[in-house]
Parts: sequence; structure tokens; C-alpha cells
Amino acid sequence: MTFSLTEEQAADGLAVARRTLELLRGVPEFGDRYAQAAAPSTLAELAALPPLAKDDLNTALAHLEPAAEHGATWLFQSGGSTGAPKVGYAPTGFYMAKVFEHWRPLERDDVFVNAWGAGRMWGAHFLAAGLADLSGCRVIALGSVTAEEYPQWLGFLADRKVTAIGGTPSVLRLWFAHARAAGIELPSLRKVLWLGEAWQPQLEEDLAAVAPKARRHGMFGSTETWVVGSNSPDCPADTFHPFPHQLVHVGDGGLLDFTSLDPAMLNPVLRYRTGDAGELGPCPCGRPGPAMRVLGRRDNVVQVRGLGLHVDELLARVEREPDVSRAQVLVTERGGRAQSVDVLVLGALPPGRAEALRRELLAGTFTLSTAFVHDPEQVRVRVVDALVSNERTGKTAGFVVREEA
Ligand SMILES: [Zn+2]
Repeated sequence: MTFSLTEEQAADGLAVARRTLELLRGVPEFGDRYAQAAAPSTLAELAALPPLAKDDLNTALAHLEPAAEHGATWLFQSGGSTGAPKVGYAPTGFYMAKVFEHWRPLERDDVFVNAWGAGRMWGAHFLAAGLADLSGCRVIALGSVTAEEYPQWLGFLADRKVTAIGGTPSVLRLWFAHARAAGIELPSLRKVLWLGEAWQPQLEEDLAAVAPKARRHGMFGSTETWVVGSNSPDCPADTFHPFPHQLVHVGDGGLLDFTSLDPAMLNPVLRYRTGDAGELGPCPCGRPGPAMRVLGRRDNVVQVRGLGLHVDELLARVEREPDVSRAQVLVTERGGRAQSVDVLVLGALPPGRAEALRRELLAGTFTLSTAFVHDPEQVRVRVVDALVSNERTGKTAGFVVREEA
């Protein structure tokens, strides 16, 4: 199975793909890349179009500057994690009405804590707010809090008898770890909504202690595609049911690409690759139709505190230093959360240069400056005698993730 929809199910929506193709044809930077491409009227013709990478989408958006038909056009952080944020667009509502037609994890009597960070052009907080709006539930828009604030807020949430919370798994782990540490229970919590990174199995342990009745409800998507699919507590955590306005395709090397069939879509999402690999097949929950199993990323991106760090971009910058022969990123985690990022350098740096380079990397790498805003000292540049190699294969990867005891 290579498409999430049948020929018949996709037929009407392909008009949107044809319109997107026309828009992409007009982007001067793409030259004649789409010149030979036929307007797709079948899935096979769609699969023959060139795929879009993250940078392509940003190139196209810079040229197209789309605007919403109704309401405001929102700008969100999209794509690369170094330098200034790249930009994706969405109209007010964030396409959640179409999601709500098929997926309703929140109900009117829920008390929902929106713990996705708000601000910094992040989209998840606002799309979750859009879903809550459609659900008609009560909302506590909490966003991110600092380490000292957890016990106090947890007490407040327990008093309010919250029934649902949503965030990235990394952030949810912090909430539940602090609750466990403070001996706070949330017995009324029944739903945990998540989006932004893979589910972390350790969360089940936290939930058993803090909120034994809570079950997970996941979304899969990106700021470019917006929400592509969702799952229920009966689905495996890595498996999502794509929505009918999102066409999922499994391409070469198992790489997933996404095509929007929503006429209101502002980003030109046509065979867009997020870098995730996956497969389509039946879901153990028994719901009919193909479900998308996400098998992880195939590009060199490591998750650091819920944000993607593009390792190759970072290493390229360090390896431009004179007398540096090679560099490696070492992420040290404790309980699944990144504690520190070390850039290991093989070679020599003049006195003071390591610190200057550290400051440059922090300032110039969006993921690092954002993820370590409260503890920038946890990002280090270190000259070493040897990089970390895999003893079994002898390979030295661009990044290594190490779990601290
Ligand atoms: Zn399922």
C-alpha cells in the first residue's frame, strides 16, 4: 500500500494538487524543475512529481506569500532549526475544523490544560486551542512554565479537577515527573493529547503513578503540513489514521511525503517530505482504511527538548574552523530529556576560541538558543582526543545520544 487514499477517494482532492503544482511552476528559483510535470489526475501521476524538501517549501513561500481567504494569516516557525526561524503560514482556525470532523478527543465537559508553549511562532498551542474551541470545553491556556513553578501550578490543576492536558511528550514528561516528585496526583485526568515528537513509553509509568485513568490521544503533523492524522488509545503510539484531506504517500526508501487536498491550505504542500520514514497498513485498533506507521526520521535531525536540531548544519559550521578536522554532537539525556549538548571537536582551537565558538553556535542555532534559554551553560564546545564511536560497528556518527545514569 503506497497511498492513504484510493483513486476514487482522492479524485476530487487532486484539483488542489493541480493548483499547487501551478503555484510551484511560477517560483523562479525552481527553474524548469516542474516544466515537464503533467498536472496530476491520478495517484500514479502525483507520485511521478518531484518531492519537496523543507528548504523548497520555504523558497516557494518566500515567493508566494499566501494570504488567508478569511481572518488573519498567521506566521509560524517552520523547517530548519538554525539561524532565524523559517516561516510557514496558516489561517485562523489552523485547519482544525477538518480534523474535528473525524477526531474528537475533547468533549464539552472537559477541563483542558493547553501546555504547549505559546509564542516564539510555535503552532501547536494555537491549533490545540482551535480544537478546544470546536469542542466547546473549558480551557486553561498554560503554555510553558519554569522549573520552580511546577508544584504550584500542579496544585492549581488538581484543584480545578482537570480532565485533559496536551503538550509535546518531552513537556508532558516534565509535568508528570514534577507531579511525582511533589506527590501530587491528578485523579480526574483522563486524556493526554500529544503532538510534536514521538510518544515516550516512560510516560506510561508516570501516568500510572499520577493519573491512572489517563489515556493518550496523539496527532501527527508539522508546521508545513499541519495535522495529518491522529490516533486513539487503542492504536499503537507510532500509528496514526490520516485524514481524508491529507494524502500520505510512501515513496523511495520508505520516505513519507504529504500532499494537501484542502483548498484552504496556504502552504504549497505537494509531495512534501518531512524526513520521516513510514509505512501504510491496517491498524490493530480495527478501524478500517490504511493507517500510517511512523518509523522515525531518516535525515540527520536529533530531537532536543522537543525541537529538531539539524546536526549536519551545525557540524558544517564547526568544521569550517581552521585546524578542526572533525566535529560531533553529543546529546546527554536523563530520563529521556536532553540535559546538555556538547560539540566535540577533533583538532585544535586557539585560546578562547572554544568559548567564542560556543557563543556563536548558541546565537546562530535557533534550536539551541530556544531549548537552552534558561541554562545556556549546558551547551558546550570541547576539544577532545577522540570522538565517540560505536564500538560494535566502529562507525563515528555525526551525533550521539547518551543516557546519563
Ligand atoms: Zn488505530
